[in-house]
Amino acid sequence: MAEEKKYDVIIIGAGPGGMTTALYASRANLKVVMLDRGAYGGNLNNTASIVNYSGFKDVQGPELAEKMYQGATQFGAEYAYGTVTKVEVDGANKKVTTDMGETYVAPVVVIGTGSDHRKLGVPGEEEFGGRGVSYCAVCDGAFFKGKHLVVVGGGDSAVEEGLYLTQLASKVTVLVRRGELRAQPMLQDEAKKNPKMEFVFNTSVTEIMGDDVKVTGVKTHNNETGEDGELAADGVFIYVGNIPLTKPFADLGILDDQGWVKTDTVMQTSIPGIYAIGDVRETPLRQIATAVGDGAIAGQQVYQYIKSQE
Ligand code: NAP
Repeated sequence: MAEEKKYDVIIIGAGPGGMTTALYASRANLKVVMLDRGAYGGNLNNTASIVNYSGFKDVQGPELAEKMYQGATQFGAEYAYGTVTKVEVDGANKKVTTDMGETYVAPVVVIGTGSDHRKLGVPGEEEFGGRGVSYCAVCDGAFFKGKHLVVVGGGDSAVEEGLYLTQLASKVTVLVRRGELRAQPMLQDEAKKNPKMEFVFNTSVTEIMGDDVKVTGVKTHNNETGEDGELAADGVFIYVGNIPLTKPFADLGILDDQGWVKTDTVMQTSIPGIYAIGDVRETPLRQIATAVGDGAIAGQQVYQYIKSQE
């Protein structure tokens, strides 16, 4: 059996929240590891342009991720690759297992796994994944230069990423299931001024159509008139919200009925020594700034928790 790796703090997820906890906790001289199933930065890596993170007028997600990583690791915090499959409480310690069979042990675990895109759940979505169906404009937008794209959703992500896609596509049609957008007013104003962006309200996608090679369009249903229709498109970008990435923590009794982690105001869950930060938390606002704020609070709290256990 592989040897257990011992730390003071194990942070699961190296997004903005996790990296900030790493910065604060390692600066307090704690031995810290950030575990992530992919590249550090989390959803920053799928975000083209960020204009609402203080200190930056407009910054690209991957660039901000790199800057945060440099800050997070300057006092010795480590980053390790691994998909966490289980967290167990073992007395005062917590045991974290990865899919590569590694075991990490620490008195403190900070959950910062964030969220994943929600699927639309219609026929054709799986089939045409990577062949015209995408959840990431910054990753896949360049394949659709001069093409007509459909964006599904009416929140900040749909509008913001739709705007980004107008820089590449000939036209972006946003299909919104209700009669209004959920996105913040400033984004709505910007989108409404963009001649390449069109909104079609009260419209759900019922199927994604394609030929042998790629997406050719979507089948639609008008939720007001009950009419069914079709819309030709070369690609479909889906932004219908997020689901929490909390499967490995399901047995700990710390999740709400939607699967988000419940914490108090200092990011502590109901289990002493287990904290949660950022998007994965049951919280009214999911932003880079809030994840960073959560991370700072958790970083300071874990230091106090460890001192109190000595
Ligand atoms: P969201 O705010 O949950 O919005 C999801 C959108 O998808 C809503 O318009 C929703 O419609 C629609 N939807 C849900 N299920 C659908 C379905 N089956 N078919 C069609 N439409 C469906 O998700 P998000 O836009 O990804 O944002 C997630 C969080 O990140 C939010 O807190 C957001 O504020 C934040 N965020 C912020 C920024 C920013 O500040 N610049 C950028 C991106 C994201 P209904 O309105 O009818 O429910």
